[in-house]
Parts: sequence; structure tokens; C-alpha cells
Amino acid sequence: MALFYLRYLNSFFHFSLPPVISRTSFLLFGATYQLLVPLMVFGILLHTFFKTSVGIKKIQTKIVLFGIFPWVVSMVPSALFNLTTGQIPDSLYIFNLVCIIPVPFAFLIAIFKYRLFDVELVIRKSLVYGLLTGFLFLVYYGTIGIGSGLLSLIFNNVKSLWIVAFATLLLGLLFNPLRKRTQLYVDKFFYPEKFHLRLRLPELSKEVASSRTLLELVSQILDQLSRLLHMQNAVFLIADEAHKKFSVIKTSGNLSSQNLEREIIFSANEPVMAQIARNKKPITLQELYRQLEIHSNPKLEKLNADIILPFHLQENLVAVLFLGGEEEKSKLSREDRDLLAIFCNQVAAMVENAHLFQTATYDDLTGLYRRHVFERVVAREIERSRRFKHPLVVAMIDIDHFKKINDSYGHAAGDILLKNIAFLISRNIRNIDCLARYGGEEFVLLLPETGIKPGLGISEKLRKIVEERSFSLKDGESHCRITISIGLAYWQGTGKAGTVEELLAAADQALYRAKNRGRNRVEVLSSELMP
Ligand code: GH3
Ligand code: MG
Ligand code: MG
Repeated sequence: MALFYLRYLNSFFHFSLPPVISRTSFLLFGATYQLLVPLMVFGILLHTFFKTSVGIKKIQTKIVLFGIFPWVVSMVPSALFNLTTGQIPDSLYIFNLVCIIPVPFAFLIAIFKYRLFDVELVIRKSLVYGLLTGFLFLVYYGTIGIGSGLLSLIFNNVKSLWIVAFATLLLGLLFNPLRKRTQLYVDKFFYPEKFHLRLRLPELSKEVASSRTLLELVSQILDQLSRLLHMQNAVFLIADEAHKKFSVIKTSGNLSSQNLEREIIFSANEPVMAQIARNKKPITLQELYRQLEIHSNPKLEKLNADIILPFHLQENLVAVLFLGGEEEKSKLSREDRDLLAIFCNQVAAMVENAHLFQTATYDDLTGLYRRHVFERVVAREIERSRRFKHPLVVAMIDIDHFKKINDSYGHAAGDILLKNIAFLISRNIRNIDCLARYGGEEFVLLLPETGIKPGLGISEKLRKIVEERSFSLKDGESHCRITISIGLAYWQGTGKAGTVEELLAAADQALYRAKNRGRNRVEVLSSELMP
């Protein structure tokens, strides 16, 4: 090592070394720099190439390996010549120089196209555009030079000033279209992943904006982002109106069969959710664990996530998307996260609005209309009936002895049963009918364009369908039978029409009679009691 330094110092200060020392240090220098260093660099890169399982790293290493291979090969004969004869032949020297040419190119491609060293987008872009601008200037002035030379051959007396002016005008006209094209190709070639992400995300915001329901909106976001980030599983959690509780609204991939909708619920002040909210940008599950200083979380493990994307509306976390099952392991760069965060926060307002509309219109448990929506529909239908003198029927439906179900099987099983009955009734009515949850275990049904006779027939059919069905409860093994009572009120389309309240009160009175007369039956108030 000492000899090595002596030779190094001698190259600056040119003090005379004794011939033995000079020769030995010379050999050491040759062996180290011309043989050992290239071989070691190549060996380390080769080792990394075979060891790494991360796709992008493998490609980066492969490109650098290809780039330095000619240089490593050329260094071996140079080192041997140097060590044996003390000289390198001129031809070998030129060969060495030629072999170095691929090295910078390989590094450039690895840095710009495959994010070697994770150089930031802005820096990479300025470097590329810097090089490009230099190149274009050379082309521009070269063209002017050649052009003016050629033109002066044709037009002897045209001054070169005019030629330069003409070329500048031409450049001015072509500048914008040329710039746009160049930018497109540069982006496409050097930043394929960003190119795709940046090109798709604005389109995606427009596409998802056309969704008509919350579920459609959430499904679109979930499917498109899974595809864009090459993820197989996705779980979308949405906050309740007070932003206090997060529950699963939609899943896809392996998770869709697991009924996470009822199972996974986070409260907003749970450390996991609080930390996701604090981050404001997409993070990986590992990063979240590291920030919380934990190794795992049972609820998060169930979601099978690699990346977590928060949706913020101002300071409020309104939804969270968990994506996992990456097809090709790749790092989520800061630029990716910024782009995704912008998208998520853009669509957060859409998610919140759709959610507010949904909760105001539909009942959470059954998915049926809420009472106030039903009352609006009935009011409009009464107006139509009066105008066209058409009849209508309103039915009030109540589940018999529902308290017993809750007492015997628990409230959760009661909820499932309620949902199943709602689904069963809704499947057996016409599209123009309107079914709503009136409250608790009571439903209301509007049958437009229907006289009392067909109304009684429909109600009897519904009563029978429920009576004959055996409903499965939470574990899928216990089954139960249940009945419903129905009270009807109607308007024949002639005479004085009642108000919504009067019709509903009449239906309620008929229902009371059905209960009193033994349940599991349909009753209608006699016409003189009708409004
Ligand atoms: P009946 O109508 O035949 O007179 O008997 P009932 O047992 O159904 O009587 P009531 O209308 O007094 O009680 C209704 C019960 O329904 C009380 C309440 O615990 C239950 N209930 C109301 N809403 C829900 C709900 O959303 N989920 C569950 N699981 N139970 C509910
Ligand atoms: Mg009841
Ligand atoms: Mg009741």
C-alpha cells in the first residue's frame, strides 16, 4: 500500500524512486487499476444481478453490465501488456478508448429510463432537455450554415442576413408543434411509467366523474388504480358522515370472497387510521409499520395490502384504498406518490358527495329508499293520479314478532334477515313500484297505476312468498321462518284525493287491524274510512 501511495505521489511531484521500488509500485498500480478494479466492479454487479429479485433493479444492473463489459474485456490485455512489457500498443490504446464509449450511454439509459440512483424526475427532465436543447441549437445553426451556403450558390446577391431572418421566422412558426411532439416522445421514451400514469390520471378523473352511484364510482377508482399500479387485490374503505368510522364498501381480487364488508371496521382515532390520515400521501404497508413502530396489525394483515392510498377532502380523511398483490415488485417513487396523491384528493370530493347523496337517499342496511324519499315519490304520484284519474295503492308492511328473532339469534342475525326480506320483496315487485324502509322492521310500498283489487293480489303474493321462504341466518346453518302483515290504503283516482300523510295513516291503521286479527295477513280499510 505504501508503494502504491509513493507511486501516486510521484505522479504529481516527480521525485526519483529507486528502480526496484519504482518497478514494484508500477506493477501494483497496473494490476490494481487495470485488472483488479474492472474485474471487481464487474463481479459485484454480476452478483447483484443474480441476487436481486426486484425487477427494476435487475434491468438497471443488466444495462450497466452490458455497458461496462467491452471496457472490462479491453482492460485485460492492456493490463497484461502493461505488466509484462511495460507498454500498451497504440492499437490497443485506441481499442480501449472505443470500448469506453458504451459506458456513459449505459449509465444514461439506466438513469433516465430505469431510474438508477432514483434521480428525481425534475433533475432527469432538466438534464434531458438540456442535452436536447444543445443538440437542437447545433442542428439549427448547422442548418442555417448549410442553408445559407446552398442559397448563396443559387441567389448570388441575397444577403445572409435575410437567410438568417427567414430561418428564424421558420423556427418561430415550427417551434410550438415541434416542442409538443418532442416533449411527447421524450416523455414516452424516458419516463414510460410516469408517462402512462400522467396520461391516464387526468383521463381517469374525468371517467370516474361520470359514475352515477357511489358504488359505481368506487368500483371505477378501485379497478383503474389496480390496473395502473399492477395490483391484484383491492379494498376500499369509506368514512361515515362524521368521519369517525371507516368500513369496507368494495373489494376485488382474492379478497372479494371474504365478506370483509361487515367485518373490517376501523375507528378514525385508531393509531393505524390516524397515521394514514397524517401521511396525506400514498405509503407502503412496511412504511406504515415502521412509522408506528409495530411489526403487524391483525386487521391490516387481512387486507393483504402493499400500498395504502388516502383520500383527503381538505383536512378530513374520507376514504382509504388498500392495494396489494403486486404483479411485479417495484418501488413507489416520490413522483408516483405525488401524482397519485393529486388524483386521490381530486376524486375525494366526488366520493364524499356521492356518499352524502347515497346516505341521504338510501337506507344503509337494506339499500332501500329512505322514508322521506318515499314520501316525495308518493306526493308526486298522487298529483299524477289526480291529473289522469288513475288509481294507486300504498302498502305498509311489518315483520311479525321480529323481536323474537333478535332475542333468539342476536341483533346481527336480525339485520341479515331484515336485509334478506327487503331483497326478497324488492325482487317481486314491478320496476315502477317504489319500496322503502319506513323505519325499524317496517317497509312501505307504493303501487302506482294499481286499483285495490290487483293491489290486494300483489300484497297477498308477497305475504305468501315470505311465509314460504326459509331464511338462512349468520352462520349459514340456522334457518328460520318468518311472516309479514300488510295494511293497504288506496285511491281510486276519482273524488277527493288524500294527502301523503292521510294515505300512510290509513295504511298504518289497516296494518294495526292485520296485527289484531292474528298477523300473517293482508287488511284494507273499508272505503268509507279512506280519505
Ligand atoms: P309485531 O310487529 O308482530 O307486533 O312484533 P314485533 O316483535 O315485530 O314488534 P315491534 O314492532 O314492537 O318490534 C320491532 C322490533 O324490531 C324491535 C327492534 O328491536 C327490532 N328492530 C327494529 N329495527 C331493527 C334493525 O334495524 N335491526 C334489528 N336487528 N332489529 C330491529
Ligand atoms: Mg313487527
Ligand atoms: Mg314494527
